[in-house]
Amino acid sequence: MNATAELHIHYHHSHIPLAELHTHLGGAVDPAILWTIAHDQGIRLPTKDYWEFERMVTISEHDRIRGMKVLDNTKYHWTELIQSSPLALEPAVHETLGGAYRANHIVLHELRFNPMKRNRSGEQDLDHIIMATIRGMEKALLEYEEIRAGLLIMLDRTFPFRLNEILYQKALKYQKRGVAGIDLAGPPSKAFQMKEYVDLFREAKQKGLGVTIHTGEEGEEQSKEMKLVVDKIEPHRIGHGFLAWKDKKLIRKLLDKRIALELCPTSNLNIKVIPNVKEMREIYRTLFDAGVLLTINTDGPEMHGTNLWKEFNFLLDEQIFTAKEIETLQKNAFDATFIK
Ligand SMILES: [Zn+2]
Repeated sequence: MNATAELHIHYHHSHIPLAELHTHLGGAVDPAILWTIAHDQGIRLPTKDYWEFERMVTISEHDRIRGMKVLDNTKYHWTELIQSSPLALEPAVHETLGGAYRANHIVLHELRFNPMKRNRSGEQDLDHIIMATIRGMEKALLEYEEIRAGLLIMLDRTFPFRLNEILYQKALKYQKRGVAGIDLAGPPSKAFQMKEYVDLFREAKQKGLGVTIHTGEEGEEQSKEMKLVVDKIEPHRIGHGFLAWKDKKLIRKLLDKRIALELCPTSNLNIKVIPNVKEMREIYRTLFDAGVLLTINTDGPEMHGTNLWKEFNFLLDEQIFTAKEIETLQKNAFDATFIK
């Protein structure tokens, strides 16, 4: 049996414990569970038909989604709305961690979310929102002893500094309760200036929070932004960051500073920040062959119709990475975790 076949079989039997570092809670909850949560809360949805709902919260070919902005305003709009209460968040986190363990044997799981996108514009108390996610996580940890999990609180490019600062303070407040780090996401925004965040992120690192930032994913601006992030913030990890592939100097810095990239192959293709598999192969290979620390993630398995097995098998089938290289990428994920 060749190595490829062996890897397929292994993953399908879920003997290999896996690590997932980059998953958005807004894209990770099974649509059937979201559907029930929405009904439990009496949320008025635009459809009474489950299958139509499922199409609303997952990405398929005919959606023609291009870039983060469209994704945020369509799919994430609904998942975040449904998740916008303590009653919704507890089962959402519990089911996500438990489900990923049962289906994919994910034993190390970082789950990221923005509590301010789940408090109905201030109507719900932020502390209650965060505590509900912690309760959901604790429940999963009780049920499945093998899981190690942590929450990442996300800041957003479309928020003013003042709100992002509050999110950072909340991450510090709940650091000892299971918040392992912070992230920044959201589509490029004219009002947003990464340089205003240098001190905040540097302080977060000093205080022991893991720091990852979504950048180097789409557009000319994010290529520039990524340089600033690497030079001035030196985060532990970068969400996506593959745009560094054409910049030898930037790659050198990623190596020197040992910054890991969180790659999400299916997501990249789904929202067309990488146009096709051929380009993906060239980009990912360039980074890997240069020695950049790469990890493979789903970005949100339910929304993107994937899971870690599927990602690995896709990378194998498309001859982007060998079975041995995928083992290295998984080891990288276990090494780069914020969970202590
Ligand atoms: Zn992401």
